[in-house]
Amino acid sequence: MTCKSIGLMRILVVEDDPLLAAGLARVLGRCGHAVDRAASGIQADNLLRNTLYELVVLDIGLPDIDGFEVLRRLRLRRARTNVLVLTARDAVEDRVHGLDLGADDYLTKPFAIAEFEARVRALLRRTSAPAGPLEFRGLTIDIEVKRVKVHDVAVDLTVREWALLELFLARPGRVLSKEQIAQQLVNYDDALSLNTIEVYVSRLRSKIETEGVKIRTVRGFGYLWEAESV
Ligand code: CA
Repeated sequence: MTCKSIGLMRILVVEDDPLLAAGLARVLGRCGHAVDRAASGIQADNLLRNTLYELVVLDIGLPDIDGFEVLRRLRLRRARTNVLVLTARDAVEDRVHGLDLGADDYLTKPFAIAEFEARVRALLRRTSAPAGPLEFRGLTIDIEVKRVKVHDVAVDLTVREWALLELFLARPGRVLSKEQIAQQLVNYDDALSLNTIEVYVSRLRSKIETEGVKIRTVRGFGYLWEAESV
């Protein structure tokens, strides 16, 4: 898979065929994405309640609750996770039903891996931060070359601070809870306590906040990225 310009994403593969699930997870893992797997609808539903995923690859025929029900519950929670539905060949009604329930795209089995990769890339591009420098009041962020400037002065960010910043950029206007942040950053640090998240956020604040850029604390919920574009 071409991994260019897509940041690290968390992806859930929901598929009860172990060979197919392993194959899809392997393809996705090659780009450095964090891939979880679920072999049943209930298991998928539980994971989706507790973890923020950028993408779910969702098989419809599952042993307990089917993919439609998983999708319906996900959308009821107003989750914006991208969903790529896998349906059986010629199941036109399944496709329509899936899209009605809020799937973003579908693939009909059997499919070529190249086709799968292309669909995944297209869906992840929607969530990944845009390429090129982002200009906010007092703050410039160049994602491609990982460079940050505050009032034209370069600022060094640690790997974790950068990951945290990307997390905020990928979800403008959405409150991120400490739990969600911990789940997203777990690839960088094995023992992430919620107190540690507070430390990361406060360090990032001290480095990048300007008169037009704030990471606001939303009491009882988490953090909200607020930045005035220029
Ligand atoms: Ca199946």
